[in-house]
Amino acid sequence: MKYIYLIAFLLVGFASKSQTLNKDIEINDEALLHNLRVLSHDSLQGRFFGTAGNQKAQIYIADQFDSLRIESLLVSGYIQKFRYTFRNEFRQEVYPVSIADKDISRVPDTTVTGGNVLAIIRGETDRNIIITAHLDHLGIQDGRIFNGADDNASGVAALISIAAYFKNKSPKHNLIFAAVDAEEIGSLGAEYLLENFPFPLNTIALNINMDMIAHNDVIQLYASGLFHHPQLKEPLEKLNTLNPDLLYGHDRPGNREEDDWTFSSDHRIFHHYKIPFIYFGVEDHEDYHQSTDTFENINESFYVNAVKLIIEAVESYDTYLYNGIKN
Ligand SMILES: [Zn+2]
Repeated sequence: MKYIYLIAFLLVGFASKSQTLNKDIEINDEALLHNLRVLSHDSLQGRFFGTAGNQKAQIYIADQFDSLRIESLLVSGYIQKFRYTFRNEFRQEVYPVSIADKDISRVPDTTVTGGNVLAIIRGETDRNIIITAHLDHLGIQDGRIFNGADDNASGVAALISIAAYFKNKSPKHNLIFAAVDAEEIGSLGAEYLLENFPFPLNTIALNINMDMIAHNDVIQLYASGLFHHPQLKEPLEKLNTLNPDLLYGHDRPGNREEDDWTFSSDHRIFHHYKIPFIYFGVEDHEDYHQSTDTFENINESFYVNAVKLIIEAVESYDTYLYNGIKN
């Protein structure tokens, strides 16, 4: 009997504890999950760079920003179109054509149009925090659709929810929301964004990149990059990081115990420009870069809590980096 009371007590204790987690962060869970479901739907055909399915994703994201009444970063609309010409080996790798002999110089160039989707919530200063998530994925391979639910419909749906959350807040920094194209073939979208950025690059205080944040069975999310930017740790230490469990690492060159993720996604372009970055993501899993990376295989409650935690991190960085300039 006593034992039952103890169990009941523990259950009540656990329930009330979990209710207090992320208590200030209110998001529309259903909208978040709905957007993830739409972005990873078969009709988008795996969102490969330059395809109709990828363009559908761009338009869907732009429509979400528009219906939230969040301003476009550019005067020309939400979608920043860019062209990229594939030549020689790279052309054969990404858009292969059959050639009679092995002479790669005979392969004609091909130019493909992509698009980043960009929105902004204006802050009190002219400093910028850029939140990124890549919208493209691997398309169709051997007749199978690679839906990329975790990689990276999860990051893009989160981007929309984070924008919705901050819509009526007054951040110190401008918050720039960038769903970037062509990460899977070399971060072409992120590169184009920085090469054509509408403000001086030295106004960018931070890049927060999300790539794969919805699928982890042991409720662990990583914040990676602190090896390069140890000053970015303190704002994370203030957060309630029990659910999910926020871990640090995967950012040390030459560490044999874990992969270095410094160059694993679009944050590497910011790193190249010496712009501080923090990358949120999960460990690789059995569905990583497989046709089984589908909506059914994500962890819904882990995902919702991961997004809330990242929102807390954005708030914390916004305050912390602002105070750093003021002092
Ligand atoms: Zn990815």
